[in-house]
Amino acid sequence: MPIQVIIEKCTGCALCIKACPFDAIRMMDKPEGSGLASCSQSHKSEDSGLASLKPQGNGLASNGQSHSQSHKPEGSGLASCSQSHKKGLPAGRQAVIDLDKCNLCGACVPACKFKAILLEKPEAKLAKPQLKDYKGIWIFAEQKKGKVQPVVYELLGKARDLAASLNTEVCAVLLGDRLEEEIQELIWRGADKVYVVEKRELANFQDEPYTNVLVELINKYKPEIVLCGATSIGRSLISRVAVKIKAGLTADCTGLDIDAERKILLQTRPAFGGNIMATIISPDYRPQMATVRHKVFREASSDMKRKGKIVRENFDHALLNSRTRILDIIEEIESTVNLAEADIIVSGGRGLGGADNFKLLEELARVLGAAIGASRAAVDSNWMPYSHQVGQTGRTVAPKIYIACGISGQIQHLVGMQSSKIIIAINKDPDAPIFKVATYGIVGDLFTIIPVLTKKFKEILNK
Ligand code: FAD
Repeated sequence: MPIQVIIEKCTGCALCIKACPFDAIRMMDKPEGSGLASCSQSHKSEDSGLASLKPQGNGLASNGQSHSQSHKPEGSGLASCSQSHKKGLPAGRQAVIDLDKCNLCGACVPACKFKAILLEKPEAKLAKPQLKDYKGIWIFAEQKKGKVQPVVYELLGKARDLAASLNTEVCAVLLGDRLEEEIQELIWRGADKVYVVEKRELANFQDEPYTNVLVELINKYKPEIVLCGATSIGRSLISRVAVKIKAGLTADCTGLDIDAERKILLQTRPAFGGNIMATIISPDYRPQMATVRHKVFREASSDMKRKGKIVRENFDHALLNSRTRILDIIEEIESTVNLAEADIIVSGGRGLGGADNFKLLEELARVLGAAIGASRAAVDSNWMPYSHQVGQTGRTVAPKIYIACGISGQIQHLVGMQSSKIIIAINKDPDAPIFKVATYGIVGDLFTIIPVLTKKFKEILNK
């Protein structure tokens, strides 16, 4: 049993319940009086000092000896125990862990002041790679219809910063068919080297051949970091690659950096439902792999003087086989609001106070030629449709100008817009967190400020 509650130590204080993000712990009465419990399942050896019992089929962890237990009495959805247990258990309540819900995250262990929860995570038995053999930062250059996607240029820009800290090279990996112009552009946008595999079978993305080819290239050239856009293609591809090469993968990063001392990649992403930002490292395995959403970083600009090397690779036909066949590619119909591509976004939050008041923003947006964004609070209140939501569970945007009106600037909103070039915040609360990321802050009532701004822009822009 990887997780166990030691019944003598558990006081039923319920601190672990509060700590568990997965609602996997509950309290139950300790076995009455003698402390005898009955158990119908196998336990760990006596001498281990711990019993372990997972009631079959019911998914609750229970540790049945005198000491450690999380039981599920029959009929009640809790395990029953029919084996003899030590006597003298303290009376009262005890924690029970539901293994169907528990993902062994370990949050409950430090929360327990009485050291009553034991978590054993089996060491993965993987041969550790020779870290010094791995060099360079790779960007998977996703292309659609032979056109490299903008997220690739964003990753190239970031990779150049990371490479400077690691004193290493930036490489792009481009798979497809007839990609000559795109290869050159990748070099102009920051790649020192482009690995190219051109095959008819790779013209459009397919999981199997793309995975096989990328795995072969990684095994051959051993990059220390592999980055990929968190697009539908990127997500599908890179998770398969990570499994095949037994590397870690951090999905949907919102920040990447290098630990100056250990020279490893710091991969930051929202965790626990967006309530904290977690920085994840992969110190022992290579490559360090991460996906990043479109618009988190700024695109690298094109420098036609940049020179780079092109490495062409050829692969055996067997590697390019796919069990799936593309019948047709149907273009997604863009929503009417193209937030992701807008140069200016005027965004409204709970401070707008109602759906009708978004007309104020629409007027300003019309004058500026801007798109309308919204915080989740505004979307949840049905003031704006979801397609306008900016943030962790909405769109990630990086316009030239982002005007946040009546938005407090909670982290889940910021991760979706903090890469904007200029951020203008209008908020009546001078301590609102949005001002920490704002280029310009206007403290005051948006109902006074926005009409004045709209009027002024109308005059200046002649609209
Ligand atoms: P509030 O935080 O209520 O802020 C309203 C602001 O308006 C205040 O700062 C106030 O001072 C100001 N104000 C009020 N009246 C006026 C006035 N007359 N003039 C000027 N200022 C005024 N949020 C997102 O936005 N996008 C997401 O994608 C997103 N995803 C989430 C995912 C998860 C898992 C979770 C847990 C939360 C998520 N949230 C998201 C919600 C986020 O935590 C905040 O609750 C939300 O961003 C708050 O929206 P708001 O700033 O509009 O509202």
